[in-house]
Amino acid sequence: MRLRNIPRAEGTIQAHLAVIKRPEAQKGCWRQVFGNTNPIHIEIGMGKGGFLLNMALTHPGINYVGIERYSSVLLRAVEKLDMEDYRGLQNIRFVCMDARNVGEVFSYNEAEKIYLNFSDPWPKARHAKRRLTSKEFLARYEKILVPGGQLEFKTDNTELFNFSLEQVREAGWTLDRYTYDLYHHEILNKGNITTEYEEKFSAKGNPINKMIAVRK
Ligand code: SAM
Repeated sequence: MRLRNIPRAEGTIQAHLAVIKRPEAQKGCWRQVFGNTNPIHIEIGMGKGGFLLNMALTHPGINYVGIERYSSVLLRAVEKLDMEDYRGLQNIRFVCMDARNVGEVFSYNEAEKIYLNFSDPWPKARHAKRRLTSKEFLARYEKILVPGGQLEFKTDNTELFNFSLEQVREAGWTLDRYTYDLYHHEILNKGNITTEYEEKFSAKGNPINKMIAVRK
């Protein structure tokens, strides 16, 4: 997702207290950012932030960090946080960065869970390394997740989903559970919080795939 350039985006997000300005400086210190020792869950490719904001509202005992590459998109999440439903949430922060550099921002064992929702499919084979579920990205996640840490991934794109199942196995991670039809899977659908893309695609009748994988 890349929204048209919004001139005020950079200034607005830089001025917002929930946006971490020099994320590399927080490496190893994220619990101090939140002022508690609660687990840290990260969403990579957060988009407009609906999923993470609702997660933060529903689970006050978890600290959430949303990563998004484009400031014009992150702006939407920042604006939502200032809306009545979410204003005052203390357990959420945003970072504007390319997730390729996630290892420069989080230290070993610093996160308990990573969420990927409706990640860009990069359909051309030569772009496979850019997919957020590629082995290259799993190796980056391995460096920041605690042993036993989880990756949760949802998508309506079955090709990307099958590729991801394969990558998880090849990387030696454990596949905890998966489904090609989330809304009919009693366990995986329990407490499901939807994303902006999920709402769009499920409204069209596309089944939603979901997996939970555990770091080796
Ligand atoms: N997760 C949201 C949802 O489900 O509604 C947004 C999905 S959108 C298709 C994918 C988002 O991931 C885009 O906003 C894009 O900018 C972001 N993204 C893709 N690759 C990224 C990367 N390497 N680092 C950070 N963000 C990335």
